[in-house]
Amino acid sequence: MKINQEGKEMTGKKEKSIEKREKRLQEISLLRTIPYSDHQRWWSAETIAIVTGANRGIGFEFARQLAGHGLTVILTSRDTSVGIEAAKVLQEGGFNVDVHQLDILDDESVSEFTKWIKEKYGGVDILINNAGVNYNLGSGNSMEFSKQMIETNYYGTKNMVKAMIPLMRPSAAGARIVNVSSRLGKLNGRRSRIEDEALREKLSKLETLSEELIDNMVSTFLIQVEDNTWQSGGWPQKFTDYAVSKLAVNLYSVLMANQLAERAEGQKIYINCYCPGWVRTAMTGWSGNVSAEHAADTGVWLALLPNKEVTGKLFAERRELKL
Ligand code: NDP
Repeated sequence: MKINQEGKEMTGKKEKSIEKREKRLQEISLLRTIPYSDHQRWWSAETIAIVTGANRGIGFEFARQLAGHGLTVILTSRDTSVGIEAAKVLQEGGFNVDVHQLDILDDESVSEFTKWIKEKYGGVDILINNAGVNYNLGSGNSMEFSKQMIETNYYGTKNMVKAMIPLMRPSAAGARIVNVSSRLGKLNGRRSRIEDEALREKLSKLETLSEELIDNMVSTFLIQVEDNTWQSGGWPQKFTDYAVSKLAVNLYSVLMANQLAERAEGQKIYINCYCPGWVRTAMTGWSGNVSAEHAADTGVWLALLPNKEVTGKLFAERRELKL
């Protein structure tokens, strides 16, 4: 029997899954040492990548890694001065990083940012929807901030997708959207599951999936939170509001991927989600088991994928997960 860092005995199953995860982390560390070859590198210093909530945590790492690959990164932050300070760190390191205020929930801020990008850069190639909130730490499952969570994680992400799509530049490689999501937002996950079979069925099929259906799902959830009836609503029982918000993001991405796939060659936009794991950032009270640097990896990999046809999928550790 092995002993973990907290000195507790680990069961065989847990031990195995930790070993498996550690092995995958090592594999990815190795993969990250392999540089992109010239023919894989579809981007240049003129490629514009926007990162939301980039003043800290995983978002800051996105900015650092994408700039490290030679792209121009627009680091956005809802607090202007904090954003400027974060950008300075990267600029002083010689990276090509610009900075702008952006609150994904504030229509005026989104529209001012959109205008600025259009005037200064003419368009966008990559959008990283990283900004998000989670008000529950550890095993807490309070519904106190459910509305803010759904609004930021789902509607905020949607606001950015809608605002940036018209600015996304045509290219042979296709423009990219990466949504930082979670495996908790799976329809039929081990730790999260929509119990209502009829709803699950509708959400899982492209023929029945719609923006209205996703919006209705989150509205129904919030009404039940308000009425205090959510416990019997068949929602995921762990990190409930967070799981519902990320499920909505995952489903919206599938829907958009399908719509965007109809665009002509050269005008394509690929949209994917990924789970960064349980990360040592402010969001988890620094209690996660992976670093922000590692957490950004799968998202950066997705944003730069030389194989452009990947769209509407959920990933973790550079592997596809079943939604
Ligand atoms: P942090 O709390 O460190 O960072 C969150 C970032 O989002 C901050 O920059 C914050 O800005 C920003 N933000 C929040 N609301 C808004 C808003 N309305 N407009 C613009 N920016 C906003 O968390 P992480 O880095 O850990 O999380 C990043 C993403 O990763 C989130 O989407 C999260 O859900 C996801 N994720 C994280 C996991 C983890 O274990 N940490 C696990 C799975 C997913 P400010 O500084 O102003 O508050």
